[in-house]
Amino acid sequence: MPRIRLPDPKDIDEMIQGVSKRSEMAERKLKTAIGNALATMDPADKRTLTGDLRLTDLDIQNLLRRDRLDDPARDRLKEIIAKMRELDESGLTVYPGAVQSHRELSKTERTAMAALAADVSALMRDIASGHHDPYVKNVFGDGFEDEAKKVFKGAAKALDRLMKASGGLVVDVMRKSDVWSCGGLTNSTRMALPESLVAAAGDRSRSGYAFLTLVHESTHALPKGGTTDVLYEHHERFLNANPQAKLATADYYKEVVRQIATAAGRVFTPQDVDAHLSTTRSKDLMLAAEAADKVLNGAWVSAIRIHDTIHSMARAPGNFVGWETWLRNASRLMGTSVHREPDIAFTKAGLMRGRNSGPPIHSGDLAVMDNKIAMLAACNGKAKYVIKEPTVALGPEDYVGYVLTEVLRMFGGGLKFSKSLDKDVIVVRSLGALHESVNSGRKNLLVDVGNAKKPGLAQLPEPMRSYDALKRI
Ligand SMILES: [Zn+2]
Repeated sequence: MPRIRLPDPKDIDEMIQGVSKRSEMAERKLKTAIGNALATMDPADKRTLTGDLRLTDLDIQNLLRRDRLDDPARDRLKEIIAKMRELDESGLTVYPGAVQSHRELSKTERTAMAALAADVSALMRDIASGHHDPYVKNVFGDGFEDEAKKVFKGAAKALDRLMKASGGLVVDVMRKSDVWSCGGLTNSTRMALPESLVAAAGDRSRSGYAFLTLVHESTHALPKGGTTDVLYEHHERFLNANPQAKLATADYYKEVVRQIATAAGRVFTPQDVDAHLSTTRSKDLMLAAEAADKVLNGAWVSAIRIHDTIHSMARAPGNFVGWETWLRNASRLMGTSVHREPDIAFTKAGLMRGRNSGPPIHSGDLAVMDNKIAMLAACNGKAKYVIKEPTVALGPEDYVGYVLTEVLRMFGGGLKFSKSLDKDVIVVRSLGALHESVNSGRKNLLVDVGNAKKPGLAQLPEPMRSYDALKRI
């Protein structure tokens, strides 16, 4: 079930005040999000909520259905969110907002992490020097062990470097791992770890969660030739991907370590896969499911990239002069209200005067994106569960659309994210098309093809572009 976070009640007035097109849209999005959050709430908590606030289910429905809210109704919404937060022990009810994304490790945490990281990099060096070749060959295939061992060597070096650097290892305050299902977010200069990993760092066993996650993350941190997450161990194709794909994918390195730790050399079986699923499906359905999983994974990563960029725009607008078209298109794709703002120009302060400024980006906009990522995370890797064959003959493109629709139906938690399921599929496909593992140019189209520091997304990707054009007629 996707985890739905809502904006802080204190941020709500700035979002939905006034009569502009933007505030109208923001209010609609907020109501949808609250409806989604209520739908995913524990039933007993929900009863407490309605009881304490003296609301009936019908009252709530009416609130969420009304055209524009007056002040008392708006206060009711805030009370609902505040009560949800009060009832929730996980702390995952409210989206943190445009806060700094990371925090430093405390002294105690740093000591525990250093000990763990030392063990992890020692084992990776061991693997690199050939002490565990049978496992490396078992996972990557005979003849590919040297390349894999190079990555292990680089990962050990990168982990040592990040551990020593100030700000190299930080904690993810946005709780992306809990809500977006990513273990950590790593590049060559920083590894952002989930709170849960930092808390578990005392367990240094090789088959433990902290150890294995650190292996996975380290392989992302090579300055050159770092891995990506094209596949995860729960994906159906994980078992039979080709060696080049395996070498570029973090979870295969983690798998080597797991096999060493458990002394289990057999070819692994992905978790939560029913082995019988594959045999009962037609070849066409299997192919479409494979393509659909790729699109879902690409969409999930693109959505995360967009969120992180817009989150940075909210905090440091001066760095984004020239990103206006990007922001307009990204906002349309992610369903935020930013593109309804008449002027979305970014300015950078000059030497003499002025200040950095950009369009107002509310925590409600960020929360809308957070919700979408949570939904994509819940659907990612799930196309293999679609076993219902379509009732009409479909071409390859429509077939993938069919599978995506089924996945959203089965794993979207019955939540509403846009006008319709069809529109959701269009958005998922368009976000997927921006990712280097999906589009034919094999490029991350969110950035300029020639310069990763410059914006891409000069136009909406298909099929969103055609959808948008039709809507304008
Ligand atoms: Zn990863």
